[in-house]
Amino acid sequence: MAQLYFYYSAMNAGKSTSLLQSAYNYRERGMHSIIYTAAIDDRFGVGKVTSRIGLQADAKLYGTADDLFESIKADEQARPLDCIFIDEAQFLTKEQVRQLVEVVDELDVPVLAYGLRTDFLGETFEGSHYLLAWADKLFELKTVCHCGRKANFVVRLDQDGNAVKGGDQVKIGGNDTYESMCRKHFKALVWND
Ligand SMILES: [Zn+2]
Repeated sequence: MAQLYFYYSAMNAGKSTSLLQSAYNYRERGMHSIIYTAAIDDRFGVGKVTSRIGLQADAKLYGTADDLFESIKADEQARPLDCIFIDEAQFLTKEQVRQLVEVVDELDVPVLAYGLRTDFLGETFEGSHYLLAWADKLFELKTVCHCGRKANFVVRLDQDGNAVKGGDQVKIGGNDTYESMCRKHFKALVWND
């Protein structure tokens, strides 16, 4: 039986590196997989997953309106699939997570999704919310705060280095940066009213 896997973390915990390593392992064994990444994230150019340590691979882009079940089903009929990889899985809609559940249960193709657990206010993203709820297996990829504790929160810093405490969940462009922090330091910066 295929399963739905969710690898979640804060930022810069090596999600894309882990995805690319797994995809490479599949390819090396002569297995056929497809990588999807969110169209919303064009940091590294369209249609690629790129890791900070220099690995990259071509990827299909998905937008919020795309039916991933139908897309994957068509690919599966053209050539049997051994695995589906989803990068930036926090950007999936609830409906798309359901579609991935059907890929696993109806097409019997494993799905490995990688994404952020929470946004810069500590709220789950829609995709992460339903992956955490419905995945067969959850794996946390760990990274560390500047204090050395495990970092499972993300702080958005404006150009002056101040924590942003409101606004849209996804911001494209601008000078804001993101830093992974432990809960204690996240609270001190974001919940300190
Ligand atoms: Zn800390």
